[in-house]
Amino acid sequence: MSYKKTASIADAIPHKSINRYQCAAHQCPMPGTMSGEGGHGVCAYHWNANSMDWTRITQTLLDWAIVTEEINHCRSVLCSPDTACRPDLIAEEFRNAWARVEQGAGAWHNDLKPQPTREGGPMDSYGTWAQRLERFMGQRVVEALRHRIGRKAA
Ligand SMILES: [Zn+2]
Repeated sequence: MSYKKTASIADAIPHKSINRYQCAAHQCPMPGTMSGEGGHGVCAYHWNANSMDWTRITQTLLDWAIVTEEINHCRSVLCSPDTACRPDLIAEEFRNAWARVEQGAGAWHNDLKPQPTREGGPMDSYGTWAQRLERFMGQRVVEALRHRIGRKAA
């Protein structure tokens, strides 16, 4: 018990979930990891986006909660002092995460499934899979904005 009172590396890490630093865009589910002048952090999807597109970007991220929640969950697992150094727990979290996503993946199954990081390369780790999900969300956001532009031009 008393060992918990002594300073450890884990204790030295501020126990602030990255989710506490929410993206500055209203109701955006992602952490605000990128910050420019003024220090209002935004997520990678809102970064450098036209403010008139912010609502559409947020809605896309919310529509894809099945994916964005897993991105955020993976970040917390890989960054938490309780799990970051536990390959067994990370592997279990990865299996559970893919099981959750697979249930709702539907037609996006092949885009969302864990796969080799490159042709002939190793299979996704939990972290590289989450990066795959981040790129997937980037594509969904670009698509959503393209539709807006397309509608405007019509
Ligand atoms: Zn955001």
